Formats: sequence, structure tokens, C-alpha cells
Amino acid sequence: MPTRFNEGIMIPIRVQHISDSKQPMQDRTTALGYLEQVVSSTEEFDRVVSETLPILLDRATNYTKQFLRETGQWSDDVAHEKFALRWGVEYLEQFLVSGRSEVPCRPLFLLDSIVAKQHSRPDPFCYHPDLLTPLGRLIDGLVSRAAISRDALIALYHHCFGLRPGQVIAVLGLNGSTCQRIYKNFKRWRDSGWQRAIDDMGITESEIQDLCSRLQRHRQQSNGEAEKIIRIAQSHYRKSEPDHYPCLSRRQWADMVSEGYGSDYRIWHLALCLDCFTATWDLSFRGAAAIEKPRVEFHVRP
Ligand SMILES: [Zn+2]
Repeated sequence: MPTRFNEGIMIPIRVQHISDSKQPMQDRTTALGYLEQVVSSTEEFDRVVSETLPILLDRATNYTKQFLRETGQWSDDVAHEKFALRWGVEYLEQFLVSGRSEVPCRPLFLLDSIVAKQHSRPDPFCYHPDLLTPLGRLIDGLVSRAAISRDALIALYHHCFGLRPGQVIAVLGLNGSTCQRIYKNFKRWRDSGWQRAIDDMGITESEIQDLCSRLQRHRQQSNGEAEKIIRIAQSHYRKSEPDHYPCLSRRQWADMVSEGYGSDYRIWHLALCLDCFTATWDLSFRGAAAIEKPRVEFHVRP
């Protein structure tokens, strides 16, 4: 077990959550005390929980980190920070779903027991069986890379839909310096990023060739499978960015595009959410209308 990590370590995501919540330490302590009290109605549960979400997320994430450290699965890098955060969100969601039916309860202890129960299972971070097929491993690898690399994130528009840089820019309604970055992202991914990611996934060249020829021979069936797997992977890895996680209404997307804000949200969320992407592809007037409605057309190579 690595010893250089101690509980006092401050990491970017944690710092961000603390500063985002804009609560001085005193308030957090008060909120924790509050969460230890019994809530006796579902309304009270909802209110207490919604006021303390950042604290609960921090707690679930830190438990996951602690578990990874204790089981020798931790490394001090962005990928592991995001892994812990993703599972923190997962546990928080389970807590939100089941918590209301546990009333009366002490919310803090209920969250702790949900996390402890998960971590005591034989394979606490088990994956969906579809992600274990060759196609599943590739998609899982690409989407997980997207959670930590912007080049990989942008490349998802190509791998999932076959879009070229200009089309990505048009569909997302981007402008200014952001456009130049999209071209750079594509280039770096093609030059080296993709190959590095494939090597890290442990996928061999012959497996890649098999996948390519299968996609060619059974195009429709393979794309149907890919769509299913992409959805599973996207909903999992979207949790790496809780701030960019919620799906928005078409109206909210439309405002964002027409008023020109939230380009980060558009880039991030739409790469990782098939439903929002297909629901909003025609919102940008700058040429997107000329692009056929994107559907899943999986591309193995960059
Ligand atoms: Zn969405």
C-alpha cells in the first residue's frame, strides 16, 4: 500500500468542491452536525440533503479514495481522482434514490452504510458485462480516456458519429479561439493520442483489425451494439464532471447556443450524452443545418 498519500492531501477536485460550495469551514461543521440528526419526513430529507450535496459528495468520494488506498489500488493522478469522484457520485445517487424510503433516518449514517455495503462486496467496482467484449473494451477505454483528456473527449465526436472538426464546430455552435483548439485536438489525437490510448487499454493491432472488419461486414448490427455500449459508458464517465453532469432542456441548450455562453458545457456534456446530442444537433445555425442528423456510426481508428 502506498504510504506517501495521507488524509491531509489536497487535490484539485476537492479544492474545487470546497471553493464552489462557498461555505466557510464553520458552516460545513454545522452542516455535518445537521446531517447526523434524525430526519423524520421525506420533505425534511429532501431539504437537508439538497442543502448539503457538496459535503455528501465529498464524503462518498473520500471513502472511495480511502478504500482504493487501503486495497493498494490508488495512484496519485487525475485518472484515479476521477475514478473516485465517479463512484462518489454513483453512491450519492443510490443514497438519493433509497434514502427517502429509509425515513426516519440519520442521513449521514445512511450514506456511510450504503458506501460501506458496496465496498464490502466481492468486486465493488464491477463493470457491465457488455463492456467486457472487444468492442465494449474499446468503447469503455475511449470514453474513460475522454474523462481525463480533452483530445480524447473531442475525438469521441469522430469515434461515435464520424464527425470531422468543422462539423463538430458547427454542431456545437462554437466560435473564436475554441475552433482552433478543436483542430489541434483532432490532430494530436490522430498523431499519437489514439495509439497511446489503445496501448494503455492493452488492445492489440490484430484485435483492432478484427473489430474493423467486423464493423465493415455487419455495419448495422455493430453500430446497434456500439450505441448500447456507448450509452452505458457515457452515463458512467459523465459523473467525472459533476458540474457538467445534468442534462438540460432543449430550451436551455438553445439559449446557450444563441447567446453564446457555456461552450465548455456544450463540448463536455454533448460528447458524453447521446440523448442531448441528438436532441440539440440542429440548434446552431452556422452550418449545422447542412449536416445530416448524427446517428451512431462507430469508427475504430482516429
Ligand atoms: Zn444529457
